[in-house]
Amino acid sequence: MPDLSQRHALVTGGATGIGLAIARTLAEAGAQVTITGRNAERLAEAGDAHGLHPMTMDVTDETAVVTNIAAAVAARGPVQICVANAGIAEGRNLLKTDLDFWRQIMATNLDGAFLTIRECLRSMGQTDYGRVIAISSIAGIRGLKGAPAYTASKHGLIGLIRGLSEDYLGKPITFNALCPAYVDTDIVRRNITAISQRAGIREDEALGLMVAQNRHGRLLGSDEVAAAALWLCDPASGSVNGQCIDISGGQS
Ligand code: NDP
Repeated sequence: MPDLSQRHALVTGGATGIGLAIARTLAEAGAQVTITGRNAERLAEAGDAHGLHPMTMDVTDETAVVTNIAAAVAARGPVQICVANAGIAEGRNLLKTDLDFWRQIMATNLDGAFLTIRECLRSMGQTDYGRVIAISSIAGIRGLKGAPAYTASKHGLIGLIRGLSEDYLGKPITFNALCPAYVDTDIVRRNITAISQRAGIREDEALGLMVAQNRHGRLLGSDEVAAAALWLCDPASGSVNGQCIDISGGQS
């Protein structure tokens, strides 16, 4: 395990699912971890349970992102590990996608990541080590049926990461995206309910459709994504840059 004891990490959406697994793993490696989200109570619970620093911040609100990340830097020093994880997922085919829905997905998954990474880079850029990790999806590297807005947002995130990896070449900061398939979290459980209602099938049948796409025949665990994030934070991984790391059990 790398020693992250001198590092300040910030994980958006860090009170639940994949974000919480990453935050816990980085904290176990010694990092001071700021977790953010909109639900103050859930953040406080996760903070108390795992020794994380909770901060209420809606990633779609530019002023909130600017002021809160500046406050986190003032409290715990430069952000050297930025995990842009906050996201929402809902499948809707294109003809049912109105502009409000499209913008809602983009505002969280893409604008939110852009604002978070931009504000973290202000302090990270002054230091000799930096890791920016975006939680994209296999929907960032191939199409996800019935979810064109989500697919576009996750492709966009990879574009942002690749662009930044070019802009910062020669600097001690790396930019990578993790691209998981179905992970057993609230997002997936909500989608199982939605699919079963839409298709008129039982929830266990909807789950079966997802599971069948994974070569191991199961949903992934959040810890599997966290393990990849930890590996990227290792100083020995400093030459891995501008990559989309597929964590899909062979699905993609
Ligand atoms: P969760 O629903 O558990 O996590 C989503 C997190 O994002 C929540 O903690 C939520 O916190 C936060 N969030 C959502 N909107 C906002 C917002 N406007 N401002 C701040 N925080 C926000 O699901 P996952 O852990 O699965 O999702 C994490 C990421 O992983 C997402 O980007 C998702 O697209 C991606 N992903 C998930 C996969 C899966 O199968 N589960 C597969 C591939 C990618 P709060 O509600 O408190 O704001």
